[in-house]
Amino acid sequence: MDYKKAIQQIVQNRKDKLNQAQLLYLELLRTNAKLYETEKAIRNIKMDIRRGKSNSENELASLEVQKRNILKQSGVTDEMLNPPYSCVKCKDTGLVNDKPCSCVISKCVSDGMVGANTFSDSNELVFPVSERERITSVYSSAKTFCDKFPNTKRLNLLLMGRCGSGKSFLASCIANEISTKGFSVIMLSAFSFVHRMLKYHTTFDSDKFTYIDPLLDCDLLIIDDLGSENVLKNVTVEYLFHVINERMNANKHTVFTTNLDDEMICARYGERTYSRLFGSRQSIGFALSNTDLRKQ
Ligand SMILES: [Zn+2]
Repeated sequence: MDYKKAIQQIVQNRKDKLNQAQLLYLELLRTNAKLYETEKAIRNIKMDIRRGKSNSENELASLEVQKRNILKQSGVTDEMLNPPYSCVKCKDTGLVNDKPCSCVISKCVSDGMVGANTFSDSNELVFPVSERERITSVYSSAKTFCDKFPNTKRLNLLLMGRCGSGKSFLASCIANEISTKGFSVIMLSAFSFVHRMLKYHTTFDSDKFTYIDPLLDCDLLIIDDLGSENVLKNVTVEYLFHVINERMNANKHTVFTTNLDDEMICARYGERTYSRLFGSRQSIGFALSNTDLRKQ
């Protein structure tokens, strides 16, 4: 989905919510005579006040209280009549200072990876006793990264570990924590990443930027399971470097989960990507569990 389409959806969604609220209120007026009379009286007084005919502000205030009580008795909450914004940052316009809001950027790439995991769901008891202390400290470093975001000590995190070591779980905790803070977060598998880059590489109309822009623009990009993707000629290595490089130049954060170690990363993606990642102390790697936690 491109930004334009995402913005249209967000704006339409807001319109739908407001229409629903309006319909609900009209229905209440139609079926509740007491509410209807009160609403009518409120409108009349307001009109008189506007025309300078009346200054019965006190009466208006007491009618408003009466109206609220009638609604309360009917089980209608304020939220039902005045639906809150889905995104307070852009007030559901999709734009902040004429630029796509974080909610738009996140919406553009959603392959359902983030899930609902949070740090409070993590349980140190799932780790073997011998690893517990170390893994707890990894979680606490990841939590600090989130708390300080975007002013973190390092730009990039590498969560390393074998399959089932809980690295994707931790990555999705990070994704949720940071997106709750109002930042745009995109989490996608390395496989999806390569798939998008291939589309970008082979599309020749102006639409092509749809595939790459959100990955460059989002506040936090998470690439899950680096190393599990296909290495496509002129695509995988080249665009991984491009995205990392652009993001680092823009001071943007990236988190990787991988079962590769340093040497394997260097061998697979080349010296250039390796030194961009690790050359400037901008990245830190954390080793997750050595055990497949799913098999316990
Ligand atoms: Zn927004």
